[in-house]
Amino acid sequence: MGNLIKEKDDKGRLHIDTPLMGESLVSKKFLKTTDSTEYFRMHPDINVLKIGGQSIMDRGAKALLPIVDELIKLKDEYKLLLMTGGGTRARHVYNIGVDLGMPTGVLSKLGDKVSWQNAEMLAVLLAKHGGVKIGHGDNMEQLTMFCKEGYLPITTGIPPYGFFEHPAEFGSIPPHRTDCGAFLLAENIGAKSLIYLKDEKGLFADDPKKAGNKTGDLKFYDKISVDELIKLDLDDLIIERPILRMLQHSKCLKQLQIIDALNHPELIRDALNGKHVGTIIHK
Ligand code: ADP
Ligand code: MG
Repeated sequence: MGNLIKEKDDKGRLHIDTPLMGESLVSKKFLKTTDSTEYFRMHPDINVLKIGGQSIMDRGAKALLPIVDELIKLKDEYKLLLMTGGGTRARHVYNIGVDLGMPTGVLSKLGDKVSWQNAEMLAVLLAKHGGVKIGHGDNMEQLTMFCKEGYLPITTGIPPYGFFEHPAEFGSIPPHRTDCGAFLLAENIGAKSLIYLKDEKGLFADDPKKAGNKTGDLKFYDKISVDELIKLDLDDLIIERPILRMLQHSKCLKQLQIIDALNHPELIRDALNGKHVGTIIHK
């Protein structure tokens, strides 16, 4: 660590001798020396659940209320952080932005409100059971405390890129949306697990909803390593693509699970119990 060093001249000023001094923080060789053998986990008992926007919330009461009922039963047994997706309304504003030739970061700024609306809706539904909508700022250190006190924290899945969103590899849609936000937060708080609540049982070789695809004919991946999945280079995925690279480099998260909570809300409990009930993507 840094030592205080007294200058040898007559002024005797103090300097901090730190190993990062004079480094560009770009050198690969140097950066490798900053790896930790074990990363500190702030909230090791918290399970991050991402509730799909398009896959769950857009379908309204019939889809959402059974999941809400399940979450109410689970919240006293498990520490949960709910994160919300955007969905169709975000897609509509992206479409208008694309039509106007807006760059990716502008689209990101336009779409981020929708996931907040969904967080608000969930917070209203869960209010009398301790549901509390929180931001991404100072509340993040308090998650375990919230859960211990019987609250059920809810936040938007959208990461705060906005005008700082990375240019998309293909086209203009912001690549880091709410699946990515849930991943990044779960990783950085050192969460116990990350579970995506969607409307399909997990990852197939292609989108089962595309015309001509029959789920029976499509290969299903119940467990796959992220390296294999990157190699497969599938055209379409059930989670946002940047997550694959993030999982390759993650320090705390070792895996994530995608489950069909729309048709089987009871799987949320199984997944929290560590059971393999959907697709697990692992390091
Ligand atoms: P969310 O609202 O949870 O973000 P999305 O609709 O964005 O959900 O993504 C989930 C959808 O992705 C699934 O409902 C499915 O139709 C589609 N999908 C695309 N590619 C695949 C794939 N390879 N395997 C399974 N589902 C896929
Ligand atoms: Mg999505």
